[in-house]
Amino acid sequence: MLKRFPERGIPVDEINSILDGYGKNDIKNSRGRLFTYFYDPGLKDLDDLSSILLKFYNRNGMDYHAFPSTLKIENDLISMMSDLMHGNDDTSGTFTTGGTESILLAMKAARDLFLEKKEYVPEIVAPVTAHPAFSKAAKYLGMKITRVPVNEDYIADDTINQYINDRTAAVIASAPSFPYGGIDNIKDISEIALDKNTWFHVDACVGGMILPFLKGLGLNIKDFDFKLPGVSSMSIDLHKYGFTPKGSSVVLYKNRDLRKRQIYVNADWPGYPMSNMGMQATKSAGPLAGSWATLNYLGLDGYKKLAEKTLKAYRMIRSGITDLGYKIIGRPDATIFAFTHNDKDIIDLGIKMIENGWYPQIQPGNVFIDMPDSVHLNISPVHLDVADEFLEFFNELDKNVKPRDKNSYNVNSVEKALEMIKKEKSMLFRIIRYSRPEVSEKIFLEMTDEDFTYS
Ligand SMILES: *Cc1c(COP(=O)(O)O)cnc(C)c1O
Repeated sequence: MLKRFPERGIPVDEINSILDGYGKNDIKNSRGRLFTYFYDPGLKDLDDLSSILLKFYNRNGMDYHAFPSTLKIENDLISMMSDLMHGNDDTSGTFTTGGTESILLAMKAARDLFLEKKEYVPEIVAPVTAHPAFSKAAKYLGMKITRVPVNEDYIADDTINQYINDRTAAVIASAPSFPYGGIDNIKDISEIALDKNTWFHVDACVGGMILPFLKGLGLNIKDFDFKLPGVSSMSIDLHKYGFTPKGSSVVLYKNRDLRKRQIYVNADWPGYPMSNMGMQATKSAGPLAGSWATLNYLGLDGYKKLAEKTLKAYRMIRSGITDLGYKIIGRPDATIFAFTHNDKDIIDLGIKMIENGWYPQIQPGNVFIDMPDSVHLNISPVHLDVADEFLEFFNELDKNVKPRDKNSYNVNSVEKALEMIKKEKSMLFRIIRYSRPEVSEKIFLEMTDEDFTYS
């Protein structure tokens, strides 16, 4: 039923109480309970910086002549990030709303450069473990995507070479991949990209703001940035391990010539002359200023301290879990990882964690692409404060996990799947694991459409 637009305005008190009511069932951001969605530095002073976000919220970055602060802030920030990624004076970039926008923009630039030279439908060549944002970019931009298998450590290696041809507009690698946390063999792929004169994008959305600091702590982190001459562009999310407000990421390019293909201009309408760096026209400067504030407040030193806490928590939690017989998938290089178990039902374990207020990411994997089911944890600095408590909980939980469900749930009918999921929530993960991805996608589409209705 339609909710009527209120005849008269509602007083502030009442607005607050209505929205608080709406938020009753949201996951509470209580410190250390989330292993996904939110990267918690556990620092009170960073909460205090949120006033900067509000101060700049209504300055419109669309017209940086009217709001020159937004341009100054962005140029500062891109320059700092280029420095962190071993760029030089040619390195350029753009502040965006998130990893997805950073990736879409880089793929647009790669596509347009490709189309200046060739007339084929441009293709993206990406490891199976690379983020779906690349498939989304292909869909939005009229490109094709080829997914390449990964090696026994679940990372992409020089096998990718066999998939590159004269239709390839961009090759992708992750630093690290989100599902398993391993850094692809970026040095090898950089050499291949140079050799084949292909655009090479490194997706450091989750790793960009922690790998440099883990390296500083003495970890053996492979090169993944502009140190490697084959890297054309990179995506780095600030709203993950950068601990900045949600809605902040950067896309960086080896030089301005590559970035030029990203820009959208239009002088072919009767209104104001339009020139947009990214996808937005009207653009709140809140997340941008909030990010500048966070990066400058913490500095390299602050990020290093946070990485140290994160690493300690990661090591404690990881070994507490493997001590109980769980298996780490691949070889994680940073502070995110996934684990599974031969005999225990990992989906049941993930669901029981959530029922008890600890939020991991459940990764069903898929039998058709031969990817395991697992539970995924992103470790944040705040987890050091709760690692003991978490492991105590996990030890207890482990005793109550069901044995692995050996049934197959290969479903072909969307209606049947929806019925099964309605009866038993865990079925969603089991169906995704055993059904063809195209079928699961149809199920998701129905569920999402159904969710966004006013009832
Ligand atoms: C988070 C993530 C993305 C997508 O970023 P959003 O900010 O969610 O749009 C892309 N790639 C990797 C590796 C990520 O971790």
